[in-house]
Amino acid sequence: MKDTIMTHENLDIAKTHLGRLIGFDTTSALPNRAIIDHMADYFAGLGAHITILPDETGDKANLIARFGPEGKPGLVLSGHTDVVPAGGANWTTPPFEMDERDGRLYGRGSCDMKGFAACVMAAAPGFSSATLERPLYLCFSYDEEVGCLGAPAIARHLAALDVPPMLAIIGEPSEMKLITGQKGKIAMRAHVRGTAGHSSFAPSHVNALEYAARIIAMIQDRGRTYVEHGPFDPDFTVPHATMLATTIEGGIATNVTPDRCSFTFELRSIDESRARPDLDTLLSEVEAQFLPEMRAISDEAGIEWEEVFAYPAMGDATRTPGFEALRHILPEWGGKVSFGSEGGVFEVIGGVPSVIIGPGSIKQAHKADEFIEISQLDACLYFLDQVTEFAINR
Ligand SMILES: [Zn+2]
Repeated sequence: MKDTIMTHENLDIAKTHLGRLIGFDTTSALPNRAIIDHMADYFAGLGAHITILPDETGDKANLIARFGPEGKPGLVLSGHTDVVPAGGANWTTPPFEMDERDGRLYGRGSCDMKGFAACVMAAAPGFSSATLERPLYLCFSYDEEVGCLGAPAIARHLAALDVPPMLAIIGEPSEMKLITGQKGKIAMRAHVRGTAGHSSFAPSHVNALEYAARIIAMIQDRGRTYVEHGPFDPDFTVPHATMLATTIEGGIATNVTPDRCSFTFELRSIDESRARPDLDTLLSEVEAQFLPEMRAISDEAGIEWEEVFAYPAMGDATRTPGFEALRHILPEWGGKVSFGSEGGVFEVIGGVPSVIIGPGSIKQAHKADEFIEISQLDACLYFLDQVTEFAINR
């Protein structure tokens, strides 16, 4: 007799939803309005209370679909609708057409993170037909991949509710393990302004590129102090903050002293309260060290700092009442992660403690031939059954 492998009754429905979601090219540079309207219409048809939060252009929007009563502490199920660019050449099948092979579903966003959205859609008829004692807020954002730009408006909306949610579950790929922390990030660009001239007169010019190099050395030193002195959190694979320079541009010819150099750098923090003060201290030290000697040669020399984007760290929610209430249904613990998610935004702006639990592996994200194991969708559907049970029970 052949073994029968039991799968969730909604698995085929989730696969169908995922195929449709992948079909929307929601690369962050493009509008996401079509996918938001598609999901909003679907949830509205099931009786959800719909809130759409558009950006200034109206081309992008967040969606909040609420099932269950207002005025009670509920749960957030959250995902982003945008995806990173597909590139083109290295895909076996077209990135925006789902392809099933070898127990996997391929397509851009299959794992990061339309697979989660598809499972939530497949579970939604269950949210609708049950008598929920607690509300479920299904939140879907825009522009997560370019710096969590959409999520703050969702977080502010949740914070303004009479009774805010007790916990947010962020469905980023975690192989359905429980993730209880995520590093924050501040991405910066420095513009170093010097003076140009024939390179043979180097001493009378301010060489922007050389000052940039010296500033980068200070950034590297600061990165090293995190490695040596922490603060440490062993739950992270890299158990301390990291800081490094990432791109650089400057100079026009071998015989011209460069008057412009710009470079980017980032700080990934584990302690949200220290991130800004640490960065501000470093920038002040850089200015104190270099500006006087730059200005001694030219008043026009200077350094400007530009914040490219930032999102806060997601702290440890395990000691919150929301986490306690859900503890019995939460899956096996999988540590803390260094990649970004909207959890920190929900916590810091919305005051909603957050954890990450989602189908698929981050190893398959942001790559050609991105895929999600079908078994991961299955596991997610079973987890959502327990979430539904939790929302039904007092
Ligand atoms: Zn993601």
